[in-house]
Amino acid sequence: MPAEKKEHKIVSATTGSQMSKEEAAAANARAKKAAAPVGNATPYRIGAIVLWVLAIGFEVLAILVTFGKIDLKFMPTLWQMIAFLVLDLACLIAGSQLWKKANHIKPASEKNKVKFWLWNNMGLIMTIICFVPFIILLLTNKNADKKMKVVGVACAAIMVIIGGLLSYDWNPVSAEQKEAAMAAITGEVLWTNSLGGKVYHTHEDCQALNRTEELVQGTVEQAIAANRTRLCAFCARRDAITGVVTDDATGELEVVDTVQEVVEQVEDAAEKPAA
Ligand SMILES: [Zn+2]
Repeated sequence: MPAEKKEHKIVSATTGSQMSKEEAAAANARAKKAAAPVGNATPYRIGAIVLWVLAIGFEVLAILVTFGKIDLKFMPTLWQMIAFLVLDLACLIAGSQLWKKANHIKPASEKNKVKFWLWNNMGLIMTIICFVPFIILLLTNKNADKKMKVVGVACAAIMVIIGGLLSYDWNPVSAEQKEAAMAAITGEVLWTNSLGGKVYHTHEDCQALNRTEELVQGTVEQAIAANRTRLCAFCARRDAITGVVTDDATGELEVVDTVQEVVEQVEDAAEKPAA
C-alpha cells in the first residue's frame, strides 16, 4: 500500500532558508545556467591538519605522563593518562570529519586507486599514528606500572576502533564521479536532512521521498558537499541517466557496499532460527 504523500517543504542549500515552489523552480532554472560555488576545501584541510597535530601532541603528553616524565599533580597519574588519550581521540575525530568534508567539496581523482584510498582515508592513517606508538611503547616497557599498562592499552585499543570507524570515509566520492554527475544532471537536485543520508534526487515527487517533509534543494556539487554522493536509482531510471553512481550501485570500488552486504548477511544469518 502506498504511504500517504507529504507536501514538501524545500530549503535552499545555498541560503538555508525555505523556498516557495516558484523560488525552487527559479533556482532550478538558474542552476542550469551556472553552478553555485560550494566553498573552498582548503580551510577544512588546514583545520584537519591542525587538529591532527594537536592529537599527536596529546598522545605525546599521554606517553610522558605514563612514564613519569611529567606530572600534573592535581589528579592521579592514571587519570592524567586517560584524560590525554580522550583529548587525543577528540582531536583526531574532529580532524577526520573536516578532512572528509574537504574531500566532498573537492574530491580526489580515482585514477590511482591506492592514492585515492589513502587520500580519502588519511583519518584512518592518523588514527594509527595517534594511538599505536602509545600502545607499542607501553607494551614494550618492562618498568611501566602494571595497572597503567593494562588500562592504557585497553583504552587506546578501544579508541583505535572508535577513531578508526569515525575517521574512515564510508561514502567516498571521486572527481570523476562528481564530473559525471554534474555532466548528466543539469538542474538542481533534492535531498533529505536525514542523518547518514547519501542520496540525492532529481524529482520532487520521487517515490522515495513520499514520507519526507523537508527537502534541501541545491546543485549536484552542493549535494556531494553535503555527503549526498549518489543519485537515487528511481530518479536515475526516470531520467534515463546512466554513468552516475546511484544508490544501488554495486561497483567494486564501493567499499561501503561490501561492508553493508557483509553486515546484512550476518544479520540475515542471525535472524534465521537455529535448525
Ligand atoms: Zn529519487
